This record gives sequence, C-alpha cells and structure tokens, in this order.
Amino acid sequence: MINQELIQEFKGYINQSRRIVFLTGAGISTESGIPDFRSADGLYSNPKNINIFDISAFLADPKPFYQFSAEFLEVMENSLPNPAHLAIARLQETHLVTVVTQNIDDLHQRAGSRTVWCVHGNLEFSRCVKCGHRIATQEIYPVIRKGEIPYHSCGGVYKPEVTFFGESLPEEDWLYSQKAIEEADLLCVVGSSLAVYPAAALPGYRSRKCRLVIINREPTPLDTEADLVIHGDAGKILSNPA
Ligand code: NAD
Repeated sequence: MINQELIQEFKGYINQSRRIVFLTGAGISTESGIPDFRSADGLYSNPKNINIFDISAFLADPKPFYQFSAEFLEVMENSLPNPAHLAIARLQETHLVTVVTQNIDDLHQRAGSRTVWCVHGNLEFSRCVKCGHRIATQEIYPVIRKGEIPYHSCGGVYKPEVTFFGESLPEEDWLYSQKAIEEADLLCVVGSSLAVYPAAALPGYRSRKCRLVIINREPTPLDTEADLVIHGDAGKILSNPA
C-alpha cells in the first residue's frame, strides 16, 4: 500500500522544481521483467552469476559471460518500458529532465527520454579486447544468441561496451551526469541499492538547494540524508494518479 501523503509530498517537490535528474538502477526495470542484481530473486541469488560482469573473470574466460548473455539478451530484447520509464519520459513535457542510468537495457530511450547518460555504458557496440576493433553488437547477436563466444578475425574476443567491475566508466557520460546533478533542483534516485561505486557517489554532486528523493523497495545507505524516501514499486509510485 503506497502512502499517499508521501506521493503528494513528492508531487509538490516536482512542481517546485525546474531541473530534475533521475538516477536509475536495475530496480526500475524489474517491473519490465529484467532481474536486478541484489533483490532476493536478483541475478546474484545464483552464485554462478557473481563474477559475470567482472573484467578479470571475463578476460580469463569469457565463456560464462556469453552463456549467461544468450538468455539475458533475449529477456532484455523482449522487455518493454514500464510505467516508471514512461512517467519519467512524460515529465519532459513540463520540466528539464535528465536521466542518469546504470542500466544497459535501453528502456529509458525506448520510453522516449531524450537526455539519457549511461554511466555503465550500453550494448550498442562491442570491441575486440585484443586489437580494439569496434562492431555493432547486432552483428554478433547470432553468435551470442547461441551462447557462443564472438571472436574477431585477429583472434581476440569481442566485449560489449558495458562497464564491467574493474573497468573505468565512460568519461563523457560521467561528466555530463555530474554536471546535470550539480545543476539540479531535484535528484530522484529510483531502483538502485546505491551499492555500486562510483555511480553511488553521484548524489554527492548535488548542490545544497537540491532536494534528494529515494524511491526503492528496500532501504539504501542514503535514506538518512534524503528529503523524502518512498519504499515500494517504482512503476506504481511514479505513475500514481493521486
Ligand atoms: P541493484 O541490483 O544493486 O539494486 C536494485 C535495487 O532496486 C534494490 O535495492 C531493490 O530493492 C530495488 N528494486 C527492485 N525492484 C524495484 C522496483 N520495482 N521498484 C523500486 N525498487 C526496486 O542494482 P543497481 O543499484 O542498479 O546496481 C547494480 C548494477 O546492475 C548496475 O551497474 C547495473 O548496470 C546493473 N544491472 C542492470 C540491469 C539492467 O540494465 N536492467 C539489470 C541487472 C543489473
């Protein structure tokens, strides 16, 4: 049951703001059918998946990642933006909205959000880890779908331009995210455990006049310093008609 007083308070913050940043994590997409990492039924609930997005593990043996990707890519391809993605996109009609996402599922873009910074990269291109050759990931989908490893002709393995643990973040997306948060009147974190650094440090760039709202199923380390915390499902909260 969503607390309607909290929803009203959230709406008041939106009405009083001009520049809004949504910092989103895997939790915003669970209602689209894509599992997150750290929920009870998330990807990490299977011990096999713990090192899936670890760069050292990938370079040592890319097979587990590509075996996992065969199924995960299909789940992502078949998923649709949910009411949370759509509500954020709709807010562009009245506010200056920037989305900073840790997600690689493209659902904000497909919902119609125009300014989306992907601080953990995206799946659009892949790169050979040996010679750096870049290719549209679509071109190697047939190999990935079979659970096989996509190789470049030089013998190197292709890796999607998604940030793995142990890699640095895409610089441009990071700098634009930081700037948007510095200039925001309202920062709204949605569906993130705020456990993955450096992305979890982004709220620290907000100014003193910027309000912080956290919408998440479970508590996060920043709840105590937020102006408003709403626990529950992002889709239900963001699309709430109250
Ligand atoms: P996380 O798994 O650490 O945390 C997700 C949080 O969302 C949890 O605290 C959970 O309680 C909450 N949550 C789950 N469903 C929710 C819902 N419907 N409404 C509100 N809250 C909900 O995810 P994270 O903080 O994003 O960090 C983990 C990393 O996972 C990120 O780097 C991200 O790139 C990667 N990831 C992305 C996807 C995707 O693209 N959809 C999927 C899995 C993992």
